[in-house]
This record gives sequence, C-alpha cells and structure tokens, in this order.
Amino acid sequence: MPSEIQVKKLLRKNRFPEAFAGKYAFSPYMGCSHDCKYCDGRYEKYHFEGDLHQDISVRINAPELLAQELPKLREFGPICISSGISDAYQPAERKYGLMSECTSILAEYDFPVILHTKSNLMLRDWLNWEKINRRSGVNLYVSITWLDDSMRQKFEPGASSASERWELLRIAHNAGFKTGVLAMPLIPGISDSDEHIRKLLTKTRELDLDFIWIAGLTLKPGRQKDYFLDFINNEFPRHLQKMTGLYLNNDQYGAPLNGRQFYRQIMPLYEEYGFTDCIPHQVFKGKFALYDEISILLHDMQKLYRLKGIHTARLKTAAFKYAEWLKEQKDYIAHRRNISYNVIDIEIKKQLASGEFSQIIENRKLTVFLQRIFLNNKFLDYSTLELKDETDLTYTFNGNP
Ligand code: SF4
Repeated sequence: MPSEIQVKKLLRKNRFPEAFAGKYAFSPYMGCSHDCKYCDGRYEKYHFEGDLHQDISVRINAPELLAQELPKLREFGPICISSGISDAYQPAERKYGLMSECTSILAEYDFPVILHTKSNLMLRDWLNWEKINRRSGVNLYVSITWLDDSMRQKFEPGASSASERWELLRIAHNAGFKTGVLAMPLIPGISDSDEHIRKLLTKTRELDLDFIWIAGLTLKPGRQKDYFLDFINNEFPRHLQKMTGLYLNNDQYGAPLNGRQFYRQIMPLYEEYGFTDCIPHQVFKGKFALYDEISILLHDMQKLYRLKGIHTARLKTAAFKYAEWLKEQKDYIAHRRNISYNVIDIEIKKQLASGEFSQIIENRKLTVFLQRIFLNNKFLDYSTLELKDETDLTYTFNGNP
C-alpha cells in the first residue's frame, strides 16, 4: 500500500543543467512499482528506505507545491519529471492522478518539460501534454531496450509493454514532441549483441525519433547488485557466473570490467545509423537560457570531437573560461532579486554580436562558431558536426576550435 506524505519543497534545481535532466526536476512519487530488476534506486547512497518496488511514497501535495513554486523560479529552463528512483506514471498514478494536476499546472507556464517514463499512462493526460508542447515544448524520453515483451516482462514487470512504449513514442513524435529512446541498460550477454542493438537502432530510425542513447548495465555494490544478481540466479542461472565476473571490481559507479569494450562496440553502430552518444542539440535548443545552452553545447562538443579523434585542449580551455565567467555573473545576480537572469543572455548576445565574446573564452574561432549558432539560429548536428538550420547546411566547422 503506498503511503501518502506531505513534503515541504518539490522542485530541485540542477547545479549543472543538462539535456537529459533539465534545469529543475521533480517527481510526485518516491519508489517505483515498475520494479525494474536493475534499478539503481536501490543503491544505498540514494537513501531509499524499504523495498523500492513496494514501499511507494506519494507526495500528495505535489500539485499544490508546483503551483506555488513555478511562479517563483528566477531562471528559465526545462522542468524534468523524473527522480532516478521513481517513474511519475507508475501504477499508483492511476489512483492518485497527481500528474493530471501537475500537467495542467505546467500548461499555464512557459517552462519546457522533459518527461522520462516507461509507461504509456502519459496518454491519459494527453490534452495537457499537447498544450505544454504547443506553448513551450516537450521532450519525451522513453526508456526501452526490448522490441517485444517476452524478456521485458521479466526485467521490468510493472512497466508498460514494449509495444505500448514504442507506440507512445510514435504518437508523441507525430504530435511534434521531441522524442528519444533511452536504450539503457543493455544487459551483458542478454541484450547487448550487435544484432539486438541494430534492431533498436532500426526501430528508432523507422519511427524517425530524434535520438537513441545506448548504455550498458551498471551495478553498484550493495543492494542494487545483490538484488539483480539474485534475479539472474533465479531466471537466467546460466548467465550468473559471467555476470558476476564482469562486476567483480565493485566499482563505486557500478561500471563493469568490460565498459570500454562496450563503447568500442556501440560507437560504429551509432555512426552507421546516424546517431551519437549524446542528446542532440536540436532536441534542447532554445529550451534553456542561452547561457546554460552554451555550457551544455561546449560540454557536448568536447565529447563529440574527442570521439572523432580531434584534439580538444583549446575547446576545454574555452569551456573553462566560459564557466568561470558565467559563475561570476550568476553569483552577482543570485543576491540581487531585482535583477533578472535574462540580463546574462542579453550580455552574451551583445558580446557575440560585437565579437567581444572571444575575450571571455579566449578563442576567436569558437566565437565565430557560436555567433553562427546563436545569432543566425542554427543548430550543431552532432552526428556530422555541421551547423544546420531547418532545411539546409550553411556552415561547416573543420578542425580544432
Ligand atoms: S521505471 Fe525507473 S525508477 Fe522505476 S523501477 Fe524502473 S528504473 Fe527504477
């Protein structure tokens, strides 16, 4: 039986905004009866007491707090509905309907919304979601690693079927939402073959979704690892020995011994299908304050160029200089409630237009690149590293910025 609780605060602000987790985050629930066998919400350091899949806490005053907190937010950016240890559209939501209330409140504001889910219960609130998308944009990230239900039922018994999740993505994509597949975690020896990954990539491409992000299984030492290996022992005993061996290192982040090998396997597959190991720029463009979008972009560019074997030392320095400058601006405004954070965006645009931005990041070539993106409304295509607008390619960046 879920227990109802009242909380004092709902929205958490992410110190480092990102395309995956947004600027702010909340979930009306703690704990999750989707009962994914690999869920790392069981990890002790997340401080969840009890059984993650049974002892669900319902933040019964979530809609009330959301309505109070939204108007007080000083910075623009996406609200991410996810907590890492809950799915907002888990079975308890059928009874409590907190997401119906929360989405109707979100539809009254200008904040973009990111939803992470494994449930098609989202469709119950479809009219609200469409309103939010029309007003400020919705990014729907559906976690799915299966094409059919035989294995899904074992690994994620409480979540929607695989076909329901693919259908949810199809509907959302056709309605103009930004949509992505979180193909994570792939289970070693069970769902990480090239053949299986190709099927996921093909399905994502067939549905014309914006991205697929693939990751292997991490098992953090303690409750998460023990629960998962018990499950493997019961359901797939012939995999137990190999699986145990892969995680013998007890890495604090749960990384397996063959982590690098896995990335060597998926990188050419991404490339072959036209995807990358990041949430693409066009998915989050315009959904953050300009100053945060630049931070995310500079961070992603370092990873993308590194993957292509391009030196990133100058880019890293520029990102560091920019982060220092931005921190100074934010610290100044944080203590002056009469000044809007928007002045940072205005200043950046002014400095980009005049070229003075290059004094902040100490990089003229990168400044020109950012001018092209932010003054001429382009986005960086992460798979080709070319700047594009809706229809045509206008500028190609070659070489180390
Ligand atoms: S849906 Fe997410 S939070 Fe819920 S059990 Fe699965 S992995 Fe954990």
